[in-house]
Amino acid sequence: MNKLSLLPGSSPIRVLVVDDHPNTATTLARAIAQLGTGVHVLSATSGMEALAQVKDGAADILITDMIMPEMTGLELIEKLYNHPSGRPAFSFLMTAYDVPGLKVTARRLKVKEVIVKPVQPERICQIIVQAINELNQIKPDYKERASKKPFNILIADDQADNLTLLARYLENEGYGYIKAKDGFEALEKVRGELPDLVLLDINMPNKDGFAVLEEIRSDPAIQHIPVIILTAARLDPTEMQSGLNMGADDYITKPFDRRELLARIRTKLRVKEAEDVIRNRNRELTLLPEIGKELSARLNLDELSDLVLRRTVETLGAIEGHIILLNTKNPLHKEYRISTADAVASAIQLPPLNNLLEHMKENRESILINDTRKDSRWQSPPDDLARSVVIVPMFGRFALIGLLALFHEQPGYFNVNHQLLLQAIISQAAIAVENAGLYANMAQQQQKLAAILQSAADAIILFDADGSLSMLNPAAEGLFTDYETKIGLPLAHNRGYDTLIDALEKTYTTGQPISEEISWPDQRIFNTRFTPIADGGCVAVLHDVTHFKKLEKVKNEFIATASHDLRNPLTSIKGYSQLIQSAGQLNDNQADFVKRIQHAASNMTELVENMLDLAKMDLGAEPAHEILDMTHLLWQIADEFKPQAEAKRQNLSLEKTATSSIVRGDALKLRQALRNLIGNAIKYTPDGGAVTISSENEAGLVRMNVRDTGYGMPASDLQHIFDRFYRVRNNGHDEIEGNGLGLAIVKSTIEAHGGEIHVESDGLLGKGSCFTFTLPLTQAK
Ligand code: ADP
Repeated sequence: MNKLSLLPGSSPIRVLVVDDHPNTATTLARAIAQLGTGVHVLSATSGMEALAQVKDGAADILITDMIMPEMTGLELIEKLYNHPSGRPAFSFLMTAYDVPGLKVTARRLKVKEVIVKPVQPERICQIIVQAINELNQIKPDYKERASKKPFNILIADDQADNLTLLARYLENEGYGYIKAKDGFEALEKVRGELPDLVLLDINMPNKDGFAVLEEIRSDPAIQHIPVIILTAARLDPTEMQSGLNMGADDYITKPFDRRELLARIRTKLRVKEAEDVIRNRNRELTLLPEIGKELSARLNLDELSDLVLRRTVETLGAIEGHIILLNTKNPLHKEYRISTADAVASAIQLPPLNNLLEHMKENRESILINDTRKDSRWQSPPDDLARSVVIVPMFGRFALIGLLALFHEQPGYFNVNHQLLLQAIISQAAIAVENAGLYANMAQQQQKLAAILQSAADAIILFDADGSLSMLNPAAEGLFTDYETKIGLPLAHNRGYDTLIDALEKTYTTGQPISEEISWPDQRIFNTRFTPIADGGCVAVLHDVTHFKKLEKVKNEFIATASHDLRNPLTSIKGYSQLIQSAGQLNDNQADFVKRIQHAASNMTELVENMLDLAKMDLGAEPAHEILDMTHLLWQIADEFKPQAEAKRQNLSLEKTATSSIVRGDALKLRQALRNLIGNAIKYTPDGGAVTISSENEAGLVRMNVRDTGYGMPASDLQHIFDRFYRVRNNGHDEIEGNGLGLAIVKSTIEAHGGEIHVESDGLLGKGSCFTFTLPLTQAK
């Protein structure tokens, strides 16, 4: 006996056995059932029963007896040939009599074999096994045909007899039907079930056929459904004409001739089928502009994906769709799925897509899989519902950013038109998805920025190009009691914001960032950084230093007081150490100690004087405003230092002098500044070197230079030497005494006079240093 081979995972083969002898039917059915679990046997003892058996699904193989009451085997085969659930792949006819002409009819109806009775069940089993094996070879295509949807026809008639009769006609032809017994019900069912055709009686209670027809034709959702009017023969022909004018596709008069009715129905259905194809195509074509419009209105990835899935699945009639977005940051790989099938069916598992992805990346083309079971590119489980798949890559500006896959349970469902349409949609979707990504990024950045601004302790204010207040962070809002009223307006003058307004104007005119100390109307002090921004506006970051300012003031006051208080005891120490010598003869040791005391006391006095000077300046002591000739001062101080220079055999010389050197300032302090510079030059120049002093004029300024040929300073120290207590270390002459305050005093003095000080030095012995400062000239009165 032939072996039964079933496709792995395929649905069982349905075999229908029909014989009016119940025993024969049962015996055969039992024998066939023994063949294995891959076979599902149905049995019937009449043609009608057989038709009822296949209501929910076609039989794959039919074995029927020929001679049966009511319906012969051939009639049954003919009925099943056009049956909505699909025709059997193979039909076998059993007959005890080889009647003439039987075989010819059987051949016309594609009966596979006419089996002459009596037959043994084993023989039948053999035939079935062979048929199943053959069937397995062709099953996918055959199944596709078999699962074609039957036509559904709505019958509207208030006469129950008519309804029954029409229903029977339709059923016998293999059509599905829906009954409605009045106009209201008819309309409701047309709208709810969208039948393929309506058979409409004119004379019905509640709403007559014309009214129903009118409503059908005026409703865009159902107006395409063909309507055949059923009418009594006595109806006035003009009325009939008006029915046709109202959009009826045909009419038929009662009592009906069955064949005529069915012929008309067939014609209308054929037309409807052709129109459906066109309508579907149109729907597909209108999808593109529609979806484009909808896509451009969305900036959310989830919404976009849902929209694309929903619209493509609906329009193409797919059972399921997937969108996979690659490289989205969080999560790394995002997947969306939509399904029109039920929960069980929606379990379509995507097989590994790496190879397909690589292929799409390389070729930038979509992929059509006509039958997942036969295509080696699709490694899905054998019971997978998806039989045809179309996969369209989504390319962004630089790379593959995702893909859309649609599925259908019929092999070969998707075609090139679908593919092209999806490609067009996806290229629009890609732009929208990328925009959504950019937007999400931007929104995220904005959130981060907002979080930073919100939590910043410093006040941050954004000014527009015209200087009006544009945005403030919470810390800045706290600076104003009524910031809301100030938004959009420039800050007003003479309200305590003048230092801020001045700095802002300076930033606008220079276009450069600046830092300024700003005082606020409430007496607070802010170190403020003004930074111009691209749109012409400016950002001001205000750091509150009021507390530090207070601390600094306390410190300065302390130093001023302490220094001041140290002066008196120091004067005593110095005085008594001098008096000691006149009090009596000192031995050498004692004389040495006294000398050391005097030296230390004068060092300390100098330190205290220096600290006191600095503290006073820090506290904001204004220098005096005397009219002074700087060249004159320079000569005086140079004169003072002559003995010191000579002691070190140094050449202290005065070079060129400025033609004009009158300034307004504090003679005492400026003398001290010159003393510090010339003193340092002599101090930090070895014996035999040279110190050169000069003054010159420069646009409204007098410049004083003190140049020496001494030890110089390494470049790395230059930025610090004006700092308090800073001294250059490890330079080979650490023994030179000093307290590191001299240059700090010079800088403060010069700056308090509106001048600037600089130093140049290359740290090489003999090259020395050059200190130079400027002061603004004034007109002598
Ligand atoms: P002091 O001389 O008391 O140490 P200053 O404030 O006057 O303090 O100078 C700071 C430091 O700068 C000095 O210790 C010295 O190292 C360096 N310096 C100042 N003037 C000169 C100079 N003319 N040549 C070389 N180094 C100098």
